[in-house]
Amino acid sequence: MSQPSSIVWLRDDLRVADNPALLAAAERGAPVVVLYLLDEASPGLRPLGAASRWWLHHSLIALDASLAELGASLTLRRGAASEVLPALVREVGADAVFWNRRYSAARDVDAELKVSLREEGVAVCSFAASVLYEPWTLTTGAGDPYKVFTPFWKAALASEEPRAPVAAPHALEGHAAESELLEDWELLPTRPDWAEGLRATWTPGEQGAHERLEHFVEDGLALYHRRDEPGIEATSRLSPHLRFGEISPHQIRDRVQEGISPEAARNLATFLSEVGWREFSVNILFHWPDLATVNFRREFDEFPWGRPDPGQLEAWQEGRTGIPIVDAGMRELWATGWMHNRVRMIVASFLTKNLLVDWRVGEEWFWDTLVDADPANNAASWQWVAGSGADAAPYFRVFNPLLQAEKFDPDQEYIRRWVPELDTEEYPDPIVDLKASRDEALAAYEAVKAAK
Ligand code: FAD
Repeated sequence: MSQPSSIVWLRDDLRVADNPALLAAAERGAPVVVLYLLDEASPGLRPLGAASRWWLHHSLIALDASLAELGASLTLRRGAASEVLPALVREVGADAVFWNRRYSAARDVDAELKVSLREEGVAVCSFAASVLYEPWTLTTGAGDPYKVFTPFWKAALASEEPRAPVAAPHALEGHAAESELLEDWELLPTRPDWAEGLRATWTPGEQGAHERLEHFVEDGLALYHRRDEPGIEATSRLSPHLRFGEISPHQIRDRVQEGISPEAARNLATFLSEVGWREFSVNILFHWPDLATVNFRREFDEFPWGRPDPGQLEAWQEGRTGIPIVDAGMRELWATGWMHNRVRMIVASFLTKNLLVDWRVGEEWFWDTLVDADPANNAASWQWVAGSGADAAPYFRVFNPLLQAEKFDPDQEYIRRWVPELDTEEYPDPIVDLKASRDEALAAYEAVKAAK
């Protein structure tokens, strides 16, 4: 009989350090096939947006280089996991498969594979790697999932301390398996190539993630109490690295516990609680897997969203609404694939409340354009702003984007960076009257109140 081999199936965990599945396979000692599977065929899986595809391309190149240093390489395959993985198992004679767990609807794919592979005598070993607290480990006293952040995070902090990060394997014995060519996946934009701003802003991959974390620990964390100001770099910008699992929350948590300045230490609990919001979103998505399409609070099914006016929607997407902070945010998103959190809230409120457009329309635009587009965070945050979500802002609290800008961008540092033509005739008049549209939104909300 030929020597048994192992398959490590990497998904949202594109790193070699603190990767329990990869480490377990390495420690087993058998030759390892490291698989990345582009699955656009399984029912229920949402295809990646364009900015995420750009990120994935570069992240896979970085991962392959890290694996090469350890003695292995990345095997690329495309198709439905339920077909591709069992076929690869037979092809390479694997008797064990390792992966880190997922918490979105993709977990149904994993659960079915676990059963079918085990029926064929293949061992399947899964691990926790992308969250500090797996969703089923934190429940209310009554055993229900948490729907409100504060008690969720309180319970998290009072529960068993998350594990320390695990090291990268010292070496891997790679098992040769044929790989598709990354170029054939055509993940990068070509006609036109709109990724210039993304290339200038980001370094996808594990090393880029750790450099970003170090930069934040040295310069950003001490400013984190000013995290609502988009004009300064006070937040970590780790979100796309976390989304693709180039860095784990365990590694972030571990790094910020020590070796930081007293100024930074003062902001530590706040920073970790923002990481906690990511955990909360995963918890919500796990229990409400259709969060990206269905109102979490079902009384919002009665909300009379207008049909988006194509002209207004385009003006929002392209940053031509005539509301400077909204336009600055949408242009930052288009240019860099990222937007500051405070500004995300403002543009989302403007779309759902001043333009009365269904939050799902905005969620889809973000899904396509964000490099950190995340099944849990994006859906949960859009619903949060729209008022239909878990622990959501009350619908009637409509942001005034002009006052928000005065408060959080008082010197217009952010606005002028993205809207340099602000004081010229080129800049458009507002596409909507803020006061009148706010009143309309509040009137529309009556339908939800009636449905309660
Ligand atoms: P930091 O402040 O440095 O926080 C560190 C990490 O904590 C982040 O990288 C992120 O993983 C997590 N985090 C921080 N704030 C939040 C939050 N409010 N909710 C959940 N997690 C948080 N975040 C995404 O990762 N992907 C998305 O697709 C996404 N879509 C959003 C859509 C809307 C409408 C809104 C209002 C917010 C959205 N967010 C999303 C949340 C938040 O805006 C980003 O996580 C944050 O701006 C990332 O910047 P940072 O890494 O510098 O954050």
